[in-house]
Amino acid sequence: MSNTLKKVQDLLIEHHNAFENAIPLIASENVTSIQCREACNSDLSHRYAEGWPGERVYAGCEWLDQIEQIAIDLAKKYFRVNFADVRPISGVVANLVAYTAYTEPGDIMSCMPIPSGGHISHGPKYGRVSKNLINGTAGAVHGLDIEYLKFNWEEMNIDVDQSIAIIREKKPKLLLFGGSVFLFPHPVKELSEVAREVGAKVMYDGAHVLGLIGSGYFQDPLREGADIMTGSTHKTFPGPQHGIVLSDTKDSEEIELLKKCAFPAMLSNHHLHNVAGLAITLAEMLEFGIEYHAQVIKNAKALAQALHERGFKILCEHKGFTESHQVVADITNFENTIGLGGDIEKALEKANIIINRNLLPWDIVRDNRNYTNPGGIRLGVSEVTRLGMKERDMVSISELMKKIVVDQKKPEVIKEEVEEFRKDFQTLHYCFPTKTRAYEYISFK
Ligand SMILES: *Cc1c(COP(=O)(O)O)cnc(C)c1O
Repeated sequence: MSNTLKKVQDLLIEHHNAFENAIPLIASENVTSIQCREACNSDLSHRYAEGWPGERVYAGCEWLDQIEQIAIDLAKKYFRVNFADVRPISGVVANLVAYTAYTEPGDIMSCMPIPSGGHISHGPKYGRVSKNLINGTAGAVHGLDIEYLKFNWEEMNIDVDQSIAIIREKKPKLLLFGGSVFLFPHPVKELSEVAREVGAKVMYDGAHVLGLIGSGYFQDPLREGADIMTGSTHKTFPGPQHGIVLSDTKDSEEIELLKKCAFPAMLSNHHLHNVAGLAITLAEMLEFGIEYHAQVIKNAKALAQALHERGFKILCEHKGFTESHQVVADITNFENTIGLGGDIEKALEKANIIINRNLLPWDIVRDNRNYTNPGGIRLGVSEVTRLGMKERDMVSISELMKKIVVDQKKPEVIKEEVEEFRKDFQTLHYCFPTKTRAYEYISFK
């Protein structure tokens, strides 16, 4: 066997083994079902089918056309919409489809500031203060000018009154909701009315909260005034890495425009194996999503409460900490501490607790901290919930985190406790039955 083949396969197996024993708390991640993983490893992973099902540029699409049509139909049902495009290959590409459909280069878009939780795909090409290159997708790729909405640090949400004033003054062509730090529903209803006044289209980037929305929680942007919702299908929606564009428009011209902005504007091939995985995950969520996402939200609240009781300063205590899958902690309050966000991320990783450091909205502008070692950490419970964990298990996780961050026990020692705790959670829940373990490495004979 070639050395490289052996080396890569060994690394894959090590990765799988590590995740079998880890507590995965990255808010933008999840774990797919075994059936989805099987589809993602099928022959579709090296096929082309440019265009829309039934109108392809290539021959040989008989079966994958049917699979894609199933994905479209299930997406329309799960998200209660008239139009779904399952071709965008990621959330960023889905955002570019929407930008291309509704704006021209040079137009203004208003959205959340990036340090307050907006995503880099919403950002300008250059920073305003020092003209440094930021290379946010909206600016760098589509030439949009960005006028940020006002964000309220206390409420961890868009400030309605000040943002109304900004929209009236700057008259954006596109108003964009959604972000990567996303604890509470955004004021879509309140600001969409003002967007209409100035002739702006309204977009909702649901990358993080897509599954919560599909299952009927969090908020329903397309019913609250948004014209279009984009998303990644692998965060709270536990599917393969992919993107989606959703709209409830009945206007056939608008539908044609959206389709063309996906293909040919943004895509050539569209990762058909992941479309098949998406179809399977949509079927899972139509059957188990309500139960799954209810537990996700319960677990997030339980983890926040348990960490709070152990001395962690969780944002927005006055609002019940969170209404999504996320929990954000300001870890600058510990007097005797192992460090800031970056240090804590590394320490927890040594114990196989996987989290990410996160900028707090005031880190850069007020406290002179930056992304490498910010004052915050962000936790997400989508994946551990899919492993079957409930509220009491969130208490166990908070205790393990406290041992490292507050009691300053050696992570290498706590790692053994993490492994012991993880033994009970080896199968996936909220999906069709299988005998394969959640992170089992599947090897083709
Ligand atoms: C993760 C994320 C994206 C990008 O999604 P990809 O699928 O990684 O391209 C876009 N917008 C927001 C708000 C995100 O959090």
